[in-house]
Amino acid sequence: MKVSELFYSIQGEGKLAGLPSAFIRVSGCNLRCAWCDTPFSSWEPEGEELEVADILDRLADHPTQYVVLTGGEPLIMPGIEELTRRLHEEGYHVTLETAGTVWRDVVCDLISVSPKLANSTPWEHDDGRWAEAHEEHRLNIPVIRRLLTLGDYQLKFVLQELEDMAEVDLILGSLDEYEPTSVLLMPQGVTAEEVAQRSRWIVPICTQRGFRYCPRLQISIFGNVRGT
Ligand code: SF4
Repeated sequence: MKVSELFYSIQGEGKLAGLPSAFIRVSGCNLRCAWCDTPFSSWEPEGEELEVADILDRLADHPTQYVVLTGGEPLIMPGIEELTRRLHEEGYHVTLETAGTVWRDVVCDLISVSPKLANSTPWEHDDGRWAEAHEEHRLNIPVIRRLLTLGDYQLKFVLQELEDMAEVDLILGSLDEYEPTSVLLMPQGVTAEEVAQRSRWIVPICTQRGFRYCPRLQISIFGNVRGT
């Protein structure tokens, strides 16, 4: 599969934020979010083709059992089932980050599903040529439901404006059940200032509803740079 970067850092987002982890960022995505912070794995995918054995070799260089499979969209990658199975056999704790638009029979310890809201549709980007396809594929409720049965999960929503919460509630209402502390609200932003500004109205929603505030430690510590 095509991998745009494999690096060691701390997990910046979600339930395992702060944990030293090795990141495998696959390259290629079936969506084109307007605010995508890794365009080198979506809008202009780049990287090198690696076999599962190559990936395991490179992981061995990093002193952690925590692996994050991210992208791009890991669930469209050929061989992703085999990779997750091998990681599991090797004793790694695997977090798989996905937009939740396609089902694959993967093995993971934490599935991190980030359904894409209407704020992600790239109407203004690249003459809007990806907008309709993105809009058509960005939400797949039956797939999200099924992915949440894989084990421990987190549902991560990227918020741009307060009005986005109406769509979050529609999605949550379409699920059979969910654990509020596994619902993560994360500010959209690629600078520490943007993240801080949005956090001021997102945190009160979390405290009222029992949701979890999701920081973006990689942005506040390093800025929007690759390999972090
Ligand atoms: S799903 Fe993720 S990788 Fe794909 S375009 Fe959206 S933010 Fe970027």
